[in-house]
Amino acid sequence: MMNTLVRKLTHDAAENERIYKEGGKILREGGLVAFPTETVYGLGANALDVSAASKIYAAKGRPSDNPLIVHLSRVDDAEKYCVTSDIFYRLAAAFMPGPLTVVMPKRDCVPSTVTGGLDSVAVRIPSNEHARSLIEAAGVPVAAPSANISGRPSPTCAEHVIFDMTGRADMIIDGGDCDIGVESTIVKLSGDEMILLRPGGVTLEMLSAIGDVTLDKAITGSLSEGERPLAPGMKYRHYAPSTRVVMLDGDGADIKKYLWERSKCERVGALLFEDELAYYSELDITLVDLGEHSIEAEAHSLFAKLREIDTYNCDTFYVKVPDKTGIGLAVYNRMLKACGHEVVTL
Ligand code: AMP
Ligand code: MG
Repeated sequence: MMNTLVRKLTHDAAENERIYKEGGKILREGGLVAFPTETVYGLGANALDVSAASKIYAAKGRPSDNPLIVHLSRVDDAEKYCVTSDIFYRLAAAFMPGPLTVVMPKRDCVPSTVTGGLDSVAVRIPSNEHARSLIEAAGVPVAAPSANISGRPSPTCAEHVIFDMTGRADMIIDGGDCDIGVESTIVKLSGDEMILLRPGGVTLEMLSAIGDVTLDKAITGSLSEGERPLAPGMKYRHYAPSTRVVMLDGDGADIKKYLWERSKCERVGALLFEDELAYYSELDITLVDLGEHSIEAEAHSLFAKLREIDTYNCDTFYVKVPDKTGIGLAVYNRMLKACGHEVVTL
């Protein structure tokens, strides 16, 4: 077990600068640094250093065929690591820095350890200023997947990272809560076409304003045995609490009746918005508050709630199918994985 430094960012710019430098040096010298971004926390390593990147897979228990995202501080650096195209720059003008990852053919300098053996590489420029300052201070591109143990919900606050990565990372930078709360949108470029591999904060509607987008079927469907999604990470069971999670598709009255029936044969929990709690309060079940009734708030708190539900000693947690527009498509996609595609239509 390695010793893990924890450093907290504050409003003291000079102190933050020291933290970026300290973290940047660790990254440059081949260590692992967990850091905040606007999506979720990342576990970073020097993307050009094979042994550093390999440490990420070991620390997370991540399968080696699941590639990492290369984080840059500037759009102009992308050309050094991948073969960019006109559409990349159009996406960059509209959405970078921000929660958008773009997959393009890789250049030779990017080790195949980082790309899970693929000849393409995923790049992203985070809008979180702490993240960009750290990458800038490192002076190297930073390969980083989410900073959770593989299979667990992605971390959206420093406490989650400290829980998963103490003894596994050299340093954890605490930058508070992540704004968006679900991982970046991933788009693969193929000529002038965009293939959406993973929905996120840059929504399908926003991408469609730039050009034609097709959806990888792994986003909303379940892949059959042996079928390979275009984003290797999409095939793994993810975001999964130990407690069984099931999505319910139906209106309030049907859901209430169903939960009442289930509560007679198992310990039932339900994740609901704050304005829905009263309606279900007469049932003998555990109610967990998702907060303000909006899809953005749900995206923001989903992973924290998926971690929290294991603390209630329930057999099954039920959650309503979200509205699939905007960031709702990302929420739906993560929920599908959390519930292992168990959806009950009422
Ligand atoms: P994470 O940051 O933990 O969400 O993991 C990165 C995600 O990016 C995984 O789902 C990967 O499969 C995906 N990814 C990274 N590089 C590529 C690539 N070259 N082609 C397709 N998907 C990729
Ligand atoms: Mg991940």
